[in-house]
Amino acid sequence: MQTRLFINGDWVAATGGATLPVVNPATEAVFHHIPAGTAADANAAVLAARAAFDHGPWRQMSGAQRAGYLRAIAQGIRDRLPELARLEVLDNGKPLPEAEWDLGDAAGCFDFYAGLAEELDGEVETISLGDARFVSKAVREPVGVAGAIIPWNYPLLMAAWKVAPALAAGCTMVLKPSEHTSLTALELGAIAKDAGLPSGVLNIVTGLGQTVGQAIVDHPDVNKLAFTGSVPTGARLMAAAARDVKNISLELGGKSPFVIFADADIEKAVEWIMFGIFWNQGQVCSATSRVLVERSLYPALLERLLAEAQKITIGDGLADGTLLGPLVNDLQYRKVLAAIDRAVVQGATLACGGKAVGFDKGYFVAPTVLTDVPLTADAWVEEIFGPVVCIRAFDTEEEAVRLANDSRFGLAAAVMTADDARAERVAAAFR
Ligand code: NAD
Repeated sequence: MQTRLFINGDWVAATGGATLPVVNPATEAVFHHIPAGTAADANAAVLAARAAFDHGPWRQMSGAQRAGYLRAIAQGIRDRLPELARLEVLDNGKPLPEAEWDLGDAAGCFDFYAGLAEELDGEVETISLGDARFVSKAVREPVGVAGAIIPWNYPLLMAAWKVAPALAAGCTMVLKPSEHTSLTALELGAIAKDAGLPSGVLNIVTGLGQTVGQAIVDHPDVNKLAFTGSVPTGARLMAAAARDVKNISLELGGKSPFVIFADADIEKAVEWIMFGIFWNQGQVCSATSRVLVERSLYPALLERLLAEAQKITIGDGLADGTLLGPLVNDLQYRKVLAAIDRAVVQGATLACGGKAVGFDKGYFVAPTVLTDVPLTADAWVEEIFGPVVCIRAFDTEEEAVRLANDSRFGLAAAVMTADDARAERVAAAFR
């Protein structure tokens, strides 16, 4: 496990030497410390990325050459997959098979962008201006230094989603992982170094959002910001980017609907509801956390869902057979339990779930199903980011669509019906 920051191709101690504890969410034990980077560290990382972009070989390379590095990083992840998956479980809590799946996906992400990097070579589009005196060409070129800030729910996978496209395009970058899950992102530095990535192309600074993150956001040498995280932080970053007219992309939270009609296969519906909200302990931006079921199917489906939800094996992500691990940390655990309590106070019925019983230690929340949730209740409109699903009946297709769209932040609306034409119609009506 790394104990230093990755800046300009070297491992360096954080200025001031402060650290942050790394807590295993299944046991609450502190098992490591990561460097608490400072604004000065973020500045050093940005300057290294700037110099590598302006004077280094990276942006001059062909897409095919950059693809070679990306493929080597993909292979490095695969070579270390068992060890990285274990770190992911210790850091984040997710069940080991899910961590293994994430890491395979992270490697695949580097391969995918390697393919796109190769396609960049020679791609120059000539645009006719209708005036023979002028020649106009559209050329794809890297935007410059990218600052990437990521959350804790898919630690290495989120890093891959940011790092692979930026490097493929010829950008250099600074990555700030979540302070709650930085272990595998730091290992990515080691993998990149082993792959021979030129110094300064990828820099990784761990630490708090308000210090390291903010310093990256505010830095004049950062040309592009890529953020994944909560809506409030994203909104703050967007305002800061607007001040400097900085290019920014945001991937934020969601409260996504899943509409199930009476002709759907009930067992498949239950399976997809559970996948949509209990995978990764429901800490998924596209979790289908609001389920709408046609009234004639509702009682039978609810009964089957409650039966299956209560069978899910809860436990340490490293234990055999665990399907639901702990939430990522104490703060998230308390937030999720408070959201369940508030839903009940606001009129919802707790059909199953809440605090998991039988655990003295660890941030375990049982698969939770809320029924009779008022449309005005926070649980119906706000992301909970835990294993908590709200389910209610609807009578008509129009009502289903209206209720599905009744959220500011839908990310992954889904529909299940045996009627293909209706599926297309409802899907097209999702906002
Ligand atoms: P968060 O917004 O609290 O933190 C995200 C990152 O931003 C962290 O690295 C944090 O340190 C940093 N940060 C915090 N304050 C900052 C500041 N002032 N300046 C710069 N950086 C700052 O989110 P989180 O709790 O880590 O993650 C959960 C959220 O992420 C959920 O809302 C979830 O829906 C969302 N998410 C979205 C997607 C997506 O693809 N849309 C994917 C995963 C998670």
